[in-house]
Amino acid sequence: MVGAMAAGLLAVIFLGASFQAEAYRADVQSQRLSERYASAMAPALESGDWDSATQILETLTGGRFAVVDPDGAFMLGDRGLVSMRGLYRADVPGSDGTVIAELRTVQLRKFESVLSPQAIVVLVIIALGTAYAVGRVYTEFVLNGLSDVYRTLGDLNGADGAVTWSKVTVTEFQQLRTHMRRRLREDRRLRERLEVAAYRNPATDRPNLLAFQKAVEQALLNADIHSPVTVVCMDLGKFHARTEDKGIDDPAPLIAAALARVEAEISELGRQGILEDKKCFLAHLQDDEFALMLPPGAGVDIALQLGRNLRRAFTSPFHAQNRWITLGISGGIVVAPENGSEVGVLVQRATSARRSLKNDKKSGFAVFQARIDELGGQRALSEGDLRAALEADQFVPAFQPKINFKSGRIGGCEALARWTREDGTTVSPGDFIPLAEETGLILEIGDTILRKACREAALWVQKGWRVPVAVNVSAAQLDDPLFCDRVLDAISDGGLPPALLELEITESMAIRDPNHVEAVLLPLRKMGVRLAIDDFGTGHSNLAILSRLNFDVFKIDKSYISQLTLEPSAPALVEMILAMAHSLGHETVAEGIETAEQAAFLRARGCVFAQGFYYCRPLAAGAFRERLATWNPDLLVEGILKAS
Ligand code: C2E
Ligand code: MG
Ligand code: MG
Repeated sequence: MVGAMAAGLLAVIFLGASFQAEAYRADVQSQRLSERYASAMAPALESGDWDSATQILETLTGGRFAVVDPDGAFMLGDRGLVSMRGLYRADVPGSDGTVIAELRTVQLRKFESVLSPQAIVVLVIIALGTAYAVGRVYTEFVLNGLSDVYRTLGDLNGADGAVTWSKVTVTEFQQLRTHMRRRLREDRRLRERLEVAAYRNPATDRPNLLAFQKAVEQALLNADIHSPVTVVCMDLGKFHARTEDKGIDDPAPLIAAALARVEAEISELGRQGILEDKKCFLAHLQDDEFALMLPPGAGVDIALQLGRNLRRAFTSPFHAQNRWITLGISGGIVVAPENGSEVGVLVQRATSARRSLKNDKKSGFAVFQARIDELGGQRALSEGDLRAALEADQFVPAFQPKINFKSGRIGGCEALARWTREDGTTVSPGDFIPLAEETGLILEIGDTILRKACREAALWVQKGWRVPVAVNVSAAQLDDPLFCDRVLDAISDGGLPPALLELEITESMAIRDPNHVEAVLLPLRKMGVRLAIDDFGTGHSNLAILSRLNFDVFKIDKSYISQLTLEPSAPALVEMILAMAHSLGHETVAEGIETAEQAAFLRARGCVFAQGFYYCRPLAAGAFRERLATWNPDLLVEGILKAS
């Protein structure tokens, strides 16, 4: 628009200048003509032949002349012209050179009476305005695509899509323009709505994970050790178990209330001048998970103080569906660039810091610490170690049998990851799986174990042992878009019948997003791959949530089994879990059986499979093959080892 205005001004200046030049040329020309006319009529005037003089001048000037004597008195021609201004005066010389009269003529200048400079300016402005309007409409057409114009014209013509350009009248053109404008407005609104949907969590209308990632990415551009970016990932701790216990079936208002409480605490720190609360970015990631980015420079101390205030604030109960309910809150804190310079890594590390609290059955806020686990008392385990181990192909599955309580036979096994180092020592998964999950290397490690386990189980089939193998799957693997392909590769690679593969996902993974799990595993399950819920009892879920998932096997967590003879309420609990599972037609496995008493109890309650050191520890592939070859069910009497 500014460009158009400038061009308009230039046009006005240019036109004005060219009009002036033209007028000047016309003046000079008119003056010369008048002088010629004066000379032509001079002899007739001198001889007093007025008629001839009049005729000559009429012929030459078309009547637009007047002749006056040297005193200014009218002699002949158009009297009205004598008093007019803007005449071209020329002396009429007599034969002795003296002036005998004066000729006054009118010569129309080309533009003078057609356009005034003001009119020209107005015209130029009108022309520019029209050009701008036409340009806009044209741009709208171009932006919307000619197909739209064709379609719209087709509609206006009432034709079946075919457009006859000749039929477009001005009215139709106006209709078309109105239509296009409406379309543009609608498109713009839709775009705005989509943008809002993409960056907001519809449950609470707060920024979502995507918005959070964007905000953190932006902040990371300027983050350095002196101006760190602190991220806190929070959740409401056992939220689903608590709401279900209270019979609250719509958790959304509760989550919104919890978020509002977090916001209030942030504002309070702002009021106290501890934190620039307006610069905090709080997002509702999913379910009961929130994430907060503090303003640049606000460090761990402030995050911890906020954590303390939040815990205090969360001691008062919330009110939902006519019930009072207390919610917990815990969080993990990370600092960039110290703990990572990518949003994904930061969120993952903050989450893992938070989970480390939960695993220890604590609540509160924890700062992410780089792993300090000492391996064999030597040095901390690093991401590099894991990568090197992967390259050296040091991850292998160990196999632990599952014994059928009734028959005493090996009815299946679980593949458990082992890291066998060059010196022959073995690192157990508890030591490297958390780091593998933090670093994302679990994808490769999990895939390696899966492939090797499938290849091994296919070998057993060749030897005549149809022993199903269960493989543990981590959350990151389930989120991997290639997961299904990887499993299919692993099955087909070794030639394992899909029904002999079982995937174990933990209860907490299953309840986090049952629909996602279901969707990811559906194609595999259709092929016959089985699904087991691992560590049942640790995720505080109930069957209502789990039953959304179509699974085959329930694995009762070993913590329940170990409590059987120690904790008075444990037997009733285990009994209940088994009854529940059987009534729903699920197969049951008790993990971590270490004693004959535990085995007897579980067998009596109808548990189908036993897994535990009491029967067999996890074995390397070769040793397990040997065990399969030599296993004698008669060694057991009603699930109890004869030798013991
Ligand atoms: P899990 O899937 O629940 O595996 C069972 C764990 O219980 C194994 O520990 C097994 O050795 C142990 N166990 C079996 N019987 C007994 C017993 O009688 N007493 C005791 N105290 N423990 C027993 P492990 O091999 O150390 O694995 C620990 C966890 O690491 C596994 O728990 C699983 O969650 C994870 N894990 C193991 N392998 C993999 C893997 O390939 N991928 C993934 N994502 N996770 C794995
Ligand atoms: Mg398992
Ligand atoms: Mg387990």
